[in-house]
Amino acid sequence: MQSYIRLLPNHIANQIAAGEVVQRPASVVKELMENSVDAGATSIQLVVKDAGKTLIQVTDDGKGMNETDARMCFERHATSKISQAEDLFNLHTKGFRGEALASIAAIAHVDLKTKMAEADLGTHLVIEGSEVQSQEEAVLPNGTSFIVRNLFFNIPARRNFLKSDQVEMRHIIDEFQRVALAHPDIRFSLTHNDTEVFQLPASNFKQRIMNIFGGKNDERLVPVSEQTELMNIDGFVGKSEFAKKTRGEQFFFVNRRFIKNSYLHHAVQSAYEGLLKEGYQPAYFLFLEVPPSKIDINIHPTKTEVKFEDEKALYAILRSSIKHSLGHFQVAPTLDFQRDPSLDVPYEKLGTPAETPTIEVDTNYNPFKSTYNPFESSTSLKSGGSSGGFSRSSTGGLSSVNRKIDHWETVFDGLPESTEEVIQAQQFIEATSDSETLFDAVGTEEQQRFSVFQFKKKYIVSTIKSGVIIIDQVRAHQRILFEKYLKALKNEQAPSQQLLFSIPLYYSTYEMQLLKRVENELKAMGFVFESFTDEQVVVSGIPTEMTESEISMLLEDLLNELESDFPEETSVLHEHIAKSFAASSSVRTGTPLSVEQQENFVHLLFACAEPMVSPFGKPTYSIIDIQEIDKRFMK
Ligand code: ADP
Ligand code: MG
Repeated sequence: MQSYIRLLPNHIANQIAAGEVVQRPASVVKELMENSVDAGATSIQLVVKDAGKTLIQVTDDGKGMNETDARMCFERHATSKISQAEDLFNLHTKGFRGEALASIAAIAHVDLKTKMAEADLGTHLVIEGSEVQSQEEAVLPNGTSFIVRNLFFNIPARRNFLKSDQVEMRHIIDEFQRVALAHPDIRFSLTHNDTEVFQLPASNFKQRIMNIFGGKNDERLVPVSEQTELMNIDGFVGKSEFAKKTRGEQFFFVNRRFIKNSYLHHAVQSAYEGLLKEGYQPAYFLFLEVPPSKIDINIHPTKTEVKFEDEKALYAILRSSIKHSLGHFQVAPTLDFQRDPSLDVPYEKLGTPAETPTIEVDTNYNPFKSTYNPFESSTSLKSGGSSGGFSRSSTGGLSSVNRKIDHWETVFDGLPESTEEVIQAQQFIEATSDSETLFDAVGTEEQQRFSVFQFKKKYIVSTIKSGVIIIDQVRAHQRILFEKYLKALKNEQAPSQQLLFSIPLYYSTYEMQLLKRVENELKAMGFVFESFTDEQVVVSGIPTEMTESEISMLLEDLLNELESDFPEETSVLHEHIAKSFAASSSVRTGTPLSVEQQENFVHLLFACAEPMVSPFGKPTYSIIDIQEIDKRFMK
């Protein structure tokens, strides 16, 4: 009888297994860099070409390999890191499965040069698609250099599935940053297409964070340190006022290995309870040291998820130690964010001397009456009354609400008052003096101006010929700003406001490169740069719609956008930039608007080319027509 089962040839088995370990160029970067760390290197250089698709080279000054090991390291399950099963429970290295190099060699052209310090000569080995092409002695420096060329050369489907260089490079930078953050005592560099992206000297953890993410982090970070039986915590968390809308700068390292763990992430997040604006994310860089036997080691080496024996306890320790640090090092957050307006001094009382408080005794109070209701009281406290909305803007401060209020007027500066479009819009919006309005009965000039009102600090409500129009203030403002910014980008002659004091801004080398690529666009919008070096940009003039205090945040938001997607086509890039600025500089929900501002909004919105949708495709307004309203009263 014939047998059908056959063993797969080695190179095919390797190719299949490779799919698990190597998904993209960044996976190779991770494996090679981790091997260099495991080899005790003090300096690791990463060079990539075309986002790793053409070439990935990692050079280290670690312990190197002898002739036999140089060959052996490409065998599946060849590792120097464990020799018995028990070792698995006491791992202090990154690798242990001996799969990475075998997988990489199965799907790329690999060139290995390695020399041990105690040897006179090194070895140079070339292997392509698991086949050793050559191996010879060579004069080499101590350490190891792997060059990986033409990744997935023999699996076209995989190669075709690689994303744009932009995206693949982002993944590589992520992996590079993770390894570099986990080992501040090692020197690292990253060069892409002959441009140096990172040059990180050996340093302490805080310095490493600053070298990667920019010098600005110095004042933004709060140290966290906690030693307990279950785990040690060391590292830094960001002050709440520097939180961002993206999750970019969040790093957990467990025993110096980067991990993702949503439960622990939640623990950090919860330590910021009440300190963060909605949707904002704190930065954190945390080293957790846990006995290796307490973590589930049965995880796939390329996965970043990890399981702990005692997660609940870790959660509590993490949360409380971060809370403690935030309380200790962070000045209490500015209270005026989302504060109760009834606590404000009424406008008419501003600047008048305070009256001596009088004590009012509630004569109805009977402590033995269990159903006592203080609101029944005849002398209950009165609230401060209306504070006049905007009048409190002078408090300034860090809250976005006040920030928005501060520069409100500038949004409308320099706009033509009666262009044809505005006239059209004015015709569209019903004249306030129209006799149909209910308020007409009152008749004073003051009342007649109330053709608009703000609802829930979120919508602007007005009347039009066919009914009632409800405008979303955020989306409308985004549309107005978007078209304005777009126009500026196209015409390249937007006005600029000179700053009294220039603002220096620090970014990572990579971010600076991105910023440099949009330098002309930013100038077209009204930015003036005093200097523009590799790690610092000094801003001396800004677009008239923006305020000094928000510039750093606006540029940061833009960089975040561009990092995830950098359109090559100019018109798309312009839209991208205008959208980003429109989103981050628009008024927020919850911002009170004066009547003039509401009216201006309505006019400017309908002067837009596309007033119906926000730049993100969401409706800006909705109309309830008169028939619909009439119908409700038919009964
Ligand atoms: P693992 O790291 O899981 O052991 P790898 O396939 O990544 O498996 O590497 C196989 C072996 O090759 C390692 O155990 C190590 O002995 C050796 N090796 C790999 N890279 C280096 C390096 N840069 N320097 C010295 N030895 C290395
Ligand atoms: Mg390895």
